Amino acid sequence: MEKYQLFINGEWQDAVSGDFYDVINPATGETVSIAPYGDERDAKKAIDASHAAFRQWAELPASERASIMMRMYELMLEQKEELARMISLEMGKPIRESRGEVKIAADYVLWNAEEAKRVYGKTIPGSAKNKRLQAIRQPVGPVGAITPWNFPLSMVTRKIAPALAAGCTIVFKPASQTPGSAVQFFKIAEAAGVPKGVVNLVIGSSSKIGNTLLTDKRIRKITFTGSTEIGKQLMKQAADQVKRVSMELGGHAPLIVFEDADLEKAVEGAIASKFRNSGQTCICANRVYVHESIQEEFTRLFTQKVEAMKIGNGLEEDVELGPVIDQAAVDKVKSHVEDAVKKGALVATGGREYTPDGGEKGFFYAPTILTGVNEEMLISYEETFGPVAPVFTFRTDEEVIEKANNTIYGLAAYFFTKDLSRATRVAEALEYGIVGVNDAVPTTVQGPFGGMKESGMGREGGPDGLDDFLETKFISTVI
Ligand code: NAP
Repeated sequence: MEKYQLFINGEWQDAVSGDFYDVINPATGETVSIAPYGDERDAKKAIDASHAAFRQWAELPASERASIMMRMYELMLEQKEELARMISLEMGKPIRESRGEVKIAADYVLWNAEEAKRVYGKTIPGSAKNKRLQAIRQPVGPVGAITPWNFPLSMVTRKIAPALAAGCTIVFKPASQTPGSAVQFFKIAEAAGVPKGVVNLVIGSSSKIGNTLLTDKRIRKITFTGSTEIGKQLMKQAADQVKRVSMELGGHAPLIVFEDADLEKAVEGAIASKFRNSGQTCICANRVYVHESIQEEFTRLFTQKVEAMKIGNGLEEDVELGPVIDQAAVDKVKSHVEDAVKKGALVATGGREYTPDGGEKGFFYAPTILTGVNEEMLISYEETFGPVAPVFTFRTDEEVIEKANNTIYGLAAYFFTKDLSRATRVAEALEYGIVGVNDAVPTTVQGPFGGMKESGMGREGGPDGLDDFLETKFISTVI
């Protein structure tokens, strides 16, 4: 069984505590590896290293940083199958989805490597004859990054790639449940020739490592992806030092099917958005709103396709729906379904735990569709993070827009229509950072990904993603 190590200042090492913990495959309940349980002492060593390496890395010509990143990209492609298998092994995702995650994770590295060479400043016309004005862009400094388990590889590169491109060094803490993907990525970074101290991996106690990153003045920015609850906590701590923060937090996405939608495409979209990663993505459809005139037909088709999905261990080639991450996740899904049923929802399919062959000790829940759902039910406002699609009905555009926006979250929203005028009006009216119009999978490396309201601040991807790691410096020169 593999025993992981931390990567600090260019060296693989055990945690100072000498402690380890088990990493579990959620499809089988089996221990698949052991990981070091680091704490504030390891975090401090990593911050020392990132601080010491910062100046040199920042001053390296962008083209040289880009060359190292291009090598990382190539190595990721060479190792794509191993990387995909690791994702499926430690978080249960169907292997085909894991391959897709590796592809986008590598693309973040490629895109940012290319963009590193285009971090332009500005020359500004002066207001006096003898003045020359410039605005230059510089790396923000050493960065602390914390990520969740649901995209264990692409979350790593979404943070590390723009940081490296900008000239920042980084201390990275992956989710405890999925450290293996980060370990594989750091081996790639090492092999690609990233200088020592530039990227540092610390695994272990989230509160101790997080607290050290937040209270050390040398860490100039925190980039966090995870729950809104923890994000708020980190923002409060960051305020003490006015540390810059990027927050990619929870979501509660509406998916609206208007009466003129292409029904087949809307059903496929609802499946892709709701059941991808077993419903464990921050941009998953949490509320499906269907126009009352097509509700019956939509639910019939939706149910038919969901019932045909193959459920099982993500490592099996043809599996379409894997487990959820742990027992707590099963319990949360159960509580949402039970609450909805108690308050009058009907189960169109699923609504129970499920045990595929070999999954007796795994954490599975059958893909579920609920109808007759209303706003009183927990599922209508809390993130389920599981394979349950609650279907609501609506009559008018105004009504559904108001309902869709009636949430503390503002990450992603989707709708299906063939009417161009409606598409424009609805896209503009939805209070969400990402809107998919007849598109259930809008995430792409060149687009700004991020949320409004309590879904966070800052964007990842595209030029905005790189901007988040840069400071603007104004230089006024008297000649
Ligand atoms: P989480 O509990 O907030 O954990 C996320 C990360 O924060 C993990 O690395 C966790 O470490 C760490 N953490 C926990 N407590 C901490 C603390 N006190 N100080 C510092 N770090 C701490 O979220 P999760 O359950 O893993 O992930 C699911 C959530 O992430 C959902 O709400 C989902 O919507 C959101 N998400 C958002 C996006 C987006 O881009 N907006 C993308 C994906 C997921 P441990 O694992 O060691 O506890």
